[in-house]
Amino acid sequence: MFKSLLVANRGEIACRVFRTAHRMGLRTIAVYSEADANALHVREADEAVLIGPAAARESYLDAGKVLAAAKATGAEAVHPGYGFLSENADFAEAVIAAGLVWVGAPPSAIRAMGLKDAAKALMIAAGVPVTPGYMGEDQGPERLRAEADAIGYPVLIKAVAGGGGKGMRRVDAAEDFLDGLQSCRREAAAAFGDDRVLIEKYILSPRHIEVQVFGDLHGNVVHLFERDCSLQRRHQKVIEEAPAPGMTPEVREAVCAAAVKAAQAVGYVGAGTIEFIADASEGLRADRIWFMEMNTRLQVEHPVTEAITGQDLVEWQLRVAAGEVLPKRQEELAIDGWAMEARLYAENPSAGFLPSIGRLDRLRLPEGVRVDTGVQEGDEVTAFYDPMIAKLIVHAPTRQAAAVKLAEAAGRVEVWPVRTNAAFLARAAADEGFVAGRVDTGFIERGVDALVPGVEPSIAVQAAAAAALIPRPDGGAWTDLAGFRANAPAQGLVSVSIAGQAYRIEAARTLQGRVATVGGREILFIHGEAWPFGPGRVEARGESERLSDGVVLSPMPGKVIAIEVEAGQRVSRGQKLLTLEAMKMEHGMAAPFDGRVVDLAAVAGEQVAEGVVLVRIEADPD
Ligand code: ADP
Ligand code: ADP
Ligand code: MG
Repeated sequence: MFKSLLVANRGEIACRVFRTAHRMGLRTIAVYSEADANALHVREADEAVLIGPAAARESYLDAGKVLAAAKATGAEAVHPGYGFLSENADFAEAVIAAGLVWVGAPPSAIRAMGLKDAAKALMIAAGVPVTPGYMGEDQGPERLRAEADAIGYPVLIKAVAGGGGKGMRRVDAAEDFLDGLQSCRREAAAAFGDDRVLIEKYILSPRHIEVQVFGDLHGNVVHLFERDCSLQRRHQKVIEEAPAPGMTPEVREAVCAAAVKAAQAVGYVGAGTIEFIADASEGLRADRIWFMEMNTRLQVEHPVTEAITGQDLVEWQLRVAAGEVLPKRQEELAIDGWAMEARLYAENPSAGFLPSIGRLDRLRLPEGVRVDTGVQEGDEVTAFYDPMIAKLIVHAPTRQAAAVKLAEAAGRVEVWPVRTNAAFLARAAADEGFVAGRVDTGFIERGVDALVPGVEPSIAVQAAAAAALIPRPDGGAWTDLAGFRANAPAQGLVSVSIAGQAYRIEAARTLQGRVATVGGREILFIHGEAWPFGPGRVEARGESERLSDGVVLSPMPGKVIAIEVEAGQRVSRGQKLLTLEAMKMEHGMAAPFDGRVVDLAAVAGEQVAEGVVLVRIEADPD
């Protein structure tokens, strides 16, 4: 086994890899950008090397600088994490050519699986069932449209070089095809520098089922069962679990065997994931699961597999990279219980899930569950990188127990002033349909209204705030307590008056929360929500979210990539005004109310700072 390891990544995955590396007695080396000088992954490593400015292209994505850092520190091995250079075959080759150990997939396998169209062709040849569609050379818009017509709508246009849910458009009717194609190409060119696409039949009642595979240099390949990642928003995973709900032994056998076959077809070594899409309209069936793509790296959601198998997949990666045989044979692996993971993002679900950036003045993550994170209280969430703050991972004997644990864990998250999706996660994990296992990739979109807290605090939250102000029988204030439960007032009822209406609320069960002073303000943390409050009432967060004056500001630094309206045009509430690209995603900015565009300040193609006026809407006179 090598003695030192450089992790060519940042954030939670760098910290995750260091944890195992330290346990195995390796010397750990971090690389970091100027924006990450004080980042947790830098603090946790034995050594750290500055590799460039904040922009990923000039630091984490600059293979030359990463390699130079490895040489300068005498690192013997390089782990790429996920994202960044993890699926860059040229980088893998350069690492190997420099005489270092590459803790990743063989460059040839990365290449074979790197483009979705080529990967599908390879899988067809290997006898693995693939999602029906067009993946030809001819990229002319008319040809693509004709192919989409032939496949039959709805179809999904996908960037062949795509990843991370980007560069994908669902098209429901022929007349929308060219629009979808254009926007997909634009996103693909910006994100991947390659605007070629393929077209797939859009699978209805789709479930995302993936299989963890592992290979070693001695020709062994095993699978570590499946994960279900159907809980997605805009094709990005939000909650993942293992095993998959409703999985039968026959279907598991079929899908895991197909995954092993796929890995063997490319001579796979190390950790990889074969992703499948299932038509679950009649439950999971072996003849309705198709290969979608292979991710030739460790996956974000690998902890759920670790939980149910009791294995440390990073340790497996390091051992395999060092030339050892796989730590377990197939028959030594078994599923124990149920695991779920939720991705805690710095984003504001109440404002269309826009990323939220800033300093984490308060960051308390739940105890008693596994938390993988790359930040601590006081750290900064910047606009340069992925907005994931942490992953919450739970493990329980049954799926139901795991869901309860996950909902509780998400509900205990306390973050301020950065906004998070914690309350959204807590609600999703407690949702009746979710708990019953009725999941598909449309689950979040269908239920979004109930899953997203309003911009005004609910009655229950207001009651909790009122309860926090009620003097305690012993003369102290509830706010003195680290956590309060508002079940002490007489009869367990809390009376509050909201907008002249009196409410009496049964407090015992629902009103658990905590009040903390953050940056001089009292914040009520409850069910994953965070509300600043003053005497007697909870304030609505950010006045701008509630009472818009019609000025649409850029919520973060980004680039205006398309404008959908003209000056003077009439718009209706919710209508898309423009598209902003920030944090590697496109974000639609919508009209706050019905009215007219009186000021169109945004210019397509321009970079904007945070807080810049993009559009001003004047309301219709009543
Ligand atoms: P990425 O490389 O961005 O991960 P994938 O091809 O893995 O792209 O697809 C991401 C997600 O998009 C899937 O998890 C699934 O939710 C959805 N998806 C992909 N292909 C299809 C399809 N043919 N029909 C329906 N949904 C799909
Ligand atoms: P998974 O299937 O594991 O969710 P994704 O395709 O969503 O994989 O991407 C994995 C992670 O890689 C993302 O969560 C993100 O942090 C990171 N990532 C994806 N694309 C990029 C990119 N272009 N640059 C940096 N990081 C990226
Ligand atoms: Mg994928």
